[in-house]
Amino acid sequence: MSARILDGKAIAKSVREDVARRAAELTARGTRPGLVVVLVGEDPASQVYVKNKDKAALEAGFSVRTVRKSAAISQAELLALVRELNADTSVHGILVQLPLPKGLDASAVVRAIDPAKDVDGLHPDNVARLALGDRGLFPCTPRGCIEICDRSGIPLAGKRAAVVGRSMLVGKPLALMLLARDATVTMCHSRTTDLPAVTREADLVFAAVGRPELVRGDWIRPGATVIDVGINRLGDGRLVGDVAFGEALERAGAITPVPGGVGPMTIAMLLDNTVIAAARAAGVESSPPVVAAGKGA
Ligand code: NAD
Repeated sequence: MSARILDGKAIAKSVREDVARRAAELTARGTRPGLVVVLVGEDPASQVYVKNKDKAALEAGFSVRTVRKSAAISQAELLALVRELNADTSVHGILVQLPLPKGLDASAVVRAIDPAKDVDGLHPDNVARLALGDRGLFPCTPRGCIEICDRSGIPLAGKRAAVVGRSMLVGKPLALMLLARDATVTMCHSRTTDLPAVTREADLVFAAVGRPELVRGDWIRPGATVIDVGINRLGDGRLVGDVAFGEALERAGAITPVPGGVGPMTIAMLLDNTVIAAARAAGVESSPPVVAAGKGA
């Protein structure tokens, strides 16, 4: 049996169309969603990400601006810039592209962002809101993983989910989102003993590790859903995920490819977060809370 391939590119396109429609409604009511990306230094990968974000935000009808600063900027200057953007009512989303050059304290910069404009969902206030099941802004990549399942008709409630990787960017928030959606979640990490035994029990496996093809085909329960967050560039230039795709394809019920799976969802969910932030600033809720209340027993 060959798994259904979950086409992240197509799903991201439909998310972006929804976002564009909501952005047009807000603009007609006098609030055009505004996103500002702050890019410090010359990191080539960051330059590419930022260009893609700009393009996607423009296509969605947002006003978008990239503020470029030299790597020589001081911490105080960067914090002053963030405060200026916090105070600018035409700006609904602020994204400081990470990593920041050496010498700058990324954590302090993220903490300086107004949580209501924190479209990366990394401010401690938003982390707490996710844990509490409150309304907030939540990280884009894990939101993308949930959205792929939702838009593919893959149920989460009552299912056993294994999340491999416990970063603040992906694994931890993803586990909280799954919990809020009533999945039974096992968090795995570099110190987990017998990882294959854990994933073999799971109805859903989420891999966010950053190790090429770590998760093998025989780690997957037949029929399980596999969401591969990993993006790894091999020596020969090939891009692979954290899952051995060919092997897993034979066992899984549904699987995301790399590239073309979770990757395109991250920007789509960034746009979604920005339109949510803009709607809240305008005093309307343009979509239901991202994560179900999650306050159940
Ligand atoms: P990270 O390095 O911050 O975290 C990796 C996690 O994997 C850690 O929690 C660690 O405990 C765990 N880990 C390491 N080795 C392990 C092992 N052998 N077994 C089990 N767990 C192990 O990485 P991250 O930022 O969470 O990113 C993970 C991957 O996802 C990377 O490949 C990254 O490029 C990719 N990523 C993709 C997107 C996207 O848009 N698709 C976004 C963010 C990250």
